[in-house]
Amino acid sequence: MAPTDKAYKFVDHKFDVVVVGAGGAGLRATLGMAEQGLKTACITKVFPTRSHTVAAQGGIAASLSNMGADSWQWHMYDTVKGSDWLGDTDAMEYLVREAPAAVYELEHYGVPFSRTEEGKIYQRPFGGHMMNYGDGPPVQRTCAAADRTGHAILHTLYGQSLRHNAQFFIEYFALDLIQDEEGTITGVVAWNLDDGTIHRFAAKMVVMATGGYGRSYFSATSAHTCTGDGGGMVARTGLPLQDMEFVQFHPTGIYGAGCLITEGARGEGGYLVNAEGERFMERYAPSAKDLASRDVVSRCMTLEIREGRGVGKNKDHIFLHLDHLDPAVLHERLPGISESAKIFAGVDLTKEPIPVIPTVHYNMGGIPTNYWGEALNPTAEDPDRIQPGLMAVGEAGCASVHGANRLGSNSLIDLVVFGRAAAIRAGQVIDRNAKIPDINEASVTKIMDRFDRLRHANGGIPTAALREKMQKTMQEDAAVFRTSESLKSGVNRMAQIWNELPDVKVTDRSMIWNSDLVETLELENLMANAITTVVAAEARKESRGAHAHEDFPNRDDVNWRKHSLAWLAPDGKVTLGYRPVHLEPLLKEEDGGISLAKIAPKARVY
Ligand SMILES: Cc1cc2nc3c(=O)[nH]c(=O)nc-3n(C[C@H](O)[C@H](O)[C@H](O)COP(=O)(O)OP(=O)(O)OC[C@H]3O[C@@H](n4cnc5c(N)ncnc54)[C@H](O)[C@@H]3O)c2cc1C
Repeated sequence: MAPTDKAYKFVDHKFDVVVVGAGGAGLRATLGMAEQGLKTACITKVFPTRSHTVAAQGGIAASLSNMGADSWQWHMYDTVKGSDWLGDTDAMEYLVREAPAAVYELEHYGVPFSRTEEGKIYQRPFGGHMMNYGDGPPVQRTCAAADRTGHAILHTLYGQSLRHNAQFFIEYFALDLIQDEEGTITGVVAWNLDDGTIHRFAAKMVVMATGGYGRSYFSATSAHTCTGDGGGMVARTGLPLQDMEFVQFHPTGIYGAGCLITEGARGEGGYLVNAEGERFMERYAPSAKDLASRDVVSRCMTLEIREGRGVGKNKDHIFLHLDHLDPAVLHERLPGISESAKIFAGVDLTKEPIPVIPTVHYNMGGIPTNYWGEALNPTAEDPDRIQPGLMAVGEAGCASVHGANRLGSNSLIDLVVFGRAAAIRAGQVIDRNAKIPDINEASVTKIMDRFDRLRHANGGIPTAALREKMQKTMQEDAAVFRTSESLKSGVNRMAQIWNELPDVKVTDRSMIWNSDLVETLELENLMANAITTVVAAEARKESRGAHAHEDFPNRDDVNWRKHSLAWLAPDGKVTLGYRPVHLEPLLKEEDGGISLAKIAPKARVY
């Protein structure tokens, strides 16, 4: 073992709230916390406007009815159906009812939305968003700033958050959560990548807004920074992760590159064809066609390829046509993807189709919370038990509004609605006069021991090699379609890869911009997410939403309409449990709420 250097010096801070993450969710929470008069810090490993939210293209869903009739009840119905009846009813209702106000708030903050002729916010059709409780054609619900909606939102939110009195710690890597003896979360330890100092933040509340873990797969649309650090940190405290088996594949990642072509491309009239030039989605989803929900379209594409109707030399992908659309429309509404298609596929989309393939895109699972963003530590007796000191918002959390499958444009709205909800709740539950908790030295020692072990890791396998093993395993064994055999293999292979972690090799021992060490810390976090994903997937003996199990092709509401919980032990052993789905809406039907009969489970056809 290499000599270690445990005499780390600490810089200490005290805050009411520390938000980890400065994507859409983290920034909305930070600005709301500061507005509540709470002394707030925001820690982020990348500059705020480089968070993955910046890459969101298609838009943000809200029933504004700017371009035809719509209502929150229809949006709710679509979200419930999209979730394949696994979403929590109260959380979904909160999301869709708050959505219009949240979009107007963004407009007033300065988001430069595209406009209709009358000057209203432009809305486009998106997958799974339909009219009249799913009986009508696609509704125009997705508010867009061309195909750079996330970019517009993130820059605006960062500007707004600077108007408030929140303190930013930029390019600080959060290592782990500090816990007191009772298990309450009392802060977080972070490493300043720029000068190598270690910072201990004591806080009454820590908010995880660290985004998803797309990079546990080989091919993903997500940024290289989407490494599930929040899930890793939470799992190491002994708390469970929820619904990890539900990983969304987006139908249209650019073949070979993985970059996203937004669903907005199909919203604007684009369509998919197989090698025979057939618009095959008409066969699988006669009413929604190319705008069926993402899990459905991804499966149909995979089936076409499997049955020998893929395009290209190896018949292993599908074409997306936009070349029939007016170039002026493409230029105005989809300028970003025109550029991506040129750069990453060498295609002029006004003349040729884009080669696409289903690509990992979003994690429905994460840190379990209620619809106020409060993290849960469920027990059999109290499945909604609140974990003191911890909240989670955005893709890192699981409220659960997306259930087994997220609808496109429902994530951006989730970020701002629940970022705001968490701030409101924190304003209610945090006692401003109470003392900020002391640092628990024993907890920090444990955190620094782990950091030091990885910093001096001198084994036989480089981080990049181990990461690739994990990514290939997940890609092969927990893909769009899963079988008992592939999932068993995934569980075994991931257990072996976990056991290789102690043999990882880090070559750089420095404390300043040590990207080798950053990637190793991220790898451990990715592994925590990956191993819980594959174990929870292996256990779920049904098909629901993004979890398409070929040996159990039907949804089983009697036995499996429940959230899975996965506790990860330090030796990589995963223990599973379950908690019930919330079925009660917030508003009763007689008070204007949605009719329960409308959202009762039924077959999911588009
Ligand atoms: C290409 C692409 C396009 C998309 N398009 C859409 C769309 O059109 N509509 C839609 O609704 N959804 C879309 N999504 C999904 C949506 O954009 C994401 O789910 C959402 O942006 C996630 O936001 P977030 O705030 O949770 O996290 P992110 O934006 O991923 O931000 C995570 C933050 O956490 C910080 N962080 C992470 N780990 C650490 C650590 N250890 N220490 C310190 N800081 C840390 C990062 O620095 C970052 O600031 C898209 C996703 C992708 C990948």
